Amino acid sequence: PRYKTVEQILALMKDRTRVRNIGIIAHVDHGKTTTSDQLLASAGIISPKVAGEALALDYLKVEQQRGITVKAANVSLYHEVDNKGYVINLIDTPGHVDFSGRVTRSLRVLDGSIVVVDSVEGVMTQTETVLRQSLEERVRPILFINKVDRLVKELKLGPQEMMQKLLGIIREVNNMIDMYAEPDFKERWKINPNAGNVVFGSAKDKWGFSVPMSQKKGIGMKDVIAAYTAPDKTKLNELAQQVPIDEALLDAVIRFVPDPVEAQKYRIPKIWKGDLDNELAKAMLSADMNGPVVMMITDMKVDPHAGLVATGRVFSGTVRPGQEVWLVNAKTPQRTLQVSLYMGQTRELAEEIPAGNIAAVLGLDKARSGETLLDVRFKDLQGSFERLHYVSEPVVTIAVDPQNPKDLAKMIDALRKLSIEDPNLVVKINEETGEYLLSGMGFLHLEVSLQLLKDNYGIEVKTTPPIVVYRESVRNKSQVFEGKSPNKHNKMYISVEPLNDKTVELIASGTIKENMEPKEMAKTLRDQAGWDYEEGKRIVAFDENLNLFVDMTSGIQHLREVMDTLIQGFRLAMREGPLAHEPVRGLKVVLHDAVIHEDPAHRGPAQLYPAVRNAIFAGFLSARPTLLEPIQKLDIRIPMEFMGNVTAVLSRKRGKILNVVQTENLARIMAEIPISESFELAGELRGATAGRAFWGTEFSRWAPVPDAMLGDTVVKIRERKGLPKELPKVEDFLS
Ligand code: GDP
Repeated sequence: PRYKTVEQILALMKDRTRVRNIGIIAHVDHGKTTTSDQLLASAGIISPKVAGEALALDYLKVEQQRGITVKAANVSLYHEVDNKGYVINLIDTPGHVDFSGRVTRSLRVLDGSIVVVDSVEGVMTQTETVLRQSLEERVRPILFINKVDRLVKELKLGPQEMMQKLLGIIREVNNMIDMYAEPDFKERWKINPNAGNVVFGSAKDKWGFSVPMSQKKGIGMKDVIAAYTAPDKTKLNELAQQVPIDEALLDAVIRFVPDPVEAQKYRIPKIWKGDLDNELAKAMLSADMNGPVVMMITDMKVDPHAGLVATGRVFSGTVRPGQEVWLVNAKTPQRTLQVSLYMGQTRELAEEIPAGNIAAVLGLDKARSGETLLDVRFKDLQGSFERLHYVSEPVVTIAVDPQNPKDLAKMIDALRKLSIEDPNLVVKINEETGEYLLSGMGFLHLEVSLQLLKDNYGIEVKTTPPIVVYRESVRNKSQVFEGKSPNKHNKMYISVEPLNDKTVELIASGTIKENMEPKEMAKTLRDQAGWDYEEGKRIVAFDENLNLFVDMTSGIQHLREVMDTLIQGFRLAMREGPLAHEPVRGLKVVLHDAVIHEDPAHRGPAQLYPAVRNAIFAGFLSARPTLLEPIQKLDIRIPMEFMGNVTAVLSRKRGKILNVVQTENLARIMAEIPISESFELAGELRGATAGRAFWGTEFSRWAPVPDAMLGDTVVKIRERKGLPKELPKVEDFLS
């Protein structure tokens, strides 16, 4: 290892021709972890503080057990080529498809990737997935063909046959580059053994070489075979000293991965979701250290000593402690506290980190992974690295309960930390039952979170089976219904109707929101969503599930005094609809008239909440009530010949094919499927395609449960919740 001071590393970081940002990507088991470990152990853990400590990059037990990486870790390595020193930031990228959001997010901060392929197994489905994602983000791949020892020990190949096998893998990778790279990059980025952008070796046995390195050092496949057929390990150890794997890989990285200034020229147009002509984009395109700060946060970690640590790439400007920055997603300013750089695995304080580098920042506790951080002076310029969603809508929920009741407080704290590190995980408490509810983006997602809870916090939990969340809504407009308070002294006259799609969109995007100037809101709703202008001016409340409360009354005595109570009554009713106590979504509730008792003692919440609720629910039940179910979008890629099988699986599961694109012998199917049908989907798709399907999923939309299934679905939810099987009727709310 070569030891460096913070100042020396910072000097390299400012030069930027001396910086490389890379990740290692691979099919599971092909050797990503072993390769990372080798780079870490021998290529120079650059902080003197931790010299000698060779900690695994992939340090979580859960990952070792499941063979999937779920957390991103960052390390910086130091390496010299031609007597020049370089900083190589190695960013850990998770490999699993269910976390595709995370993979792409980490890819965004890389400029190059080392694609690891097992020499015996060759290119596998996940190799294709990660390579495709890498190319789609304009991250340049270099190839490491690992486990070459197996060709000798297991397949007993001679030098010629070995070369044939290795060239076959290179050809396959190049075919994929051909298929997935954009025209401008196709030829330039193809793997060429003679140029040196492919390394052959064994991560486990610590040796590796490219063709140019083999020529320079006079080492070839014959030596490899000799090393493995020798009676003892002497020759193998020599090989590892003559052609160490870290040297081979890092040389290739430095020579073939572009430096950040070069890379940002073509990467920003691909990854920046905003105007490319504004000052921010211009500064990023040239990686301008003196421009406004723009940084993408890829990772939030809870450090037991330091608090929340935000890690990400600085794309322009220079990050310093005490800077005021704007968080685009959180829509809030915050001040950076400490700024540090990675040396090996540890963080070292720094005065500044310039564009093109990876920085760790303290003080940004409102940020979450995927956040874009801007110089606060530029907050009004549009743009970020991710497209925004109003609320992430978790669609599967389980209740968790510690095995050991004494662990309750510990569990609550651990869940809170997990949900900070994983923005797709939502923790809530069921106020009636006191149960802790964990919601996520899918079945596997929740499973992995529970494993983390066990491994990192030592907490084992009991869980309920996963539950899909629904929403309640109506399809028609109701008449006006009278809702009475229990004392009969207060009366509400209310109608309900579904909000149109455009209105829902305007609320979801934040275009119309609470506390907006009523005239402006009315105008937007009239012009864009067909609202009556007067009605638009009279919206008095919003709720988180996109419902609106409109007050069309005039001159009602005491209404002003009780309006807050009525709004609260509206919110409570929206939280649990009459069908199955699921949240109501997309409802317009209109108050037309009211009678309110003059004595405050007779018009408290205990009287007014039920009055509001009775009128809303009577209207709701009369207006073709329905359940909305979450629908997932699927992006499936398969070899053509499996098209029929996949279509069959999808149609059995109420899936709908939206679009099919064919490229050469590959079919790409865009489809939608109800989440409630998706639990076994992974297995069935694998079965139907001999394991050759690969896919990504994301939440798509809420859609009405088909009429034929509505009754059954409602009854099942009611049973689960211990509600009477009998559905409430309009009259139940009219007494
Ligand atoms: P990952 O799932 O991609 O992170 O793969 P790992 O690094 O955990 O490696 C998977 C398995 O392959 C482990 O049992 C390693 O010991 C083994 N392995 C890694 N590199 C080599 C190699 O060069 N040769 C052989 N024979 N096995 C290797």
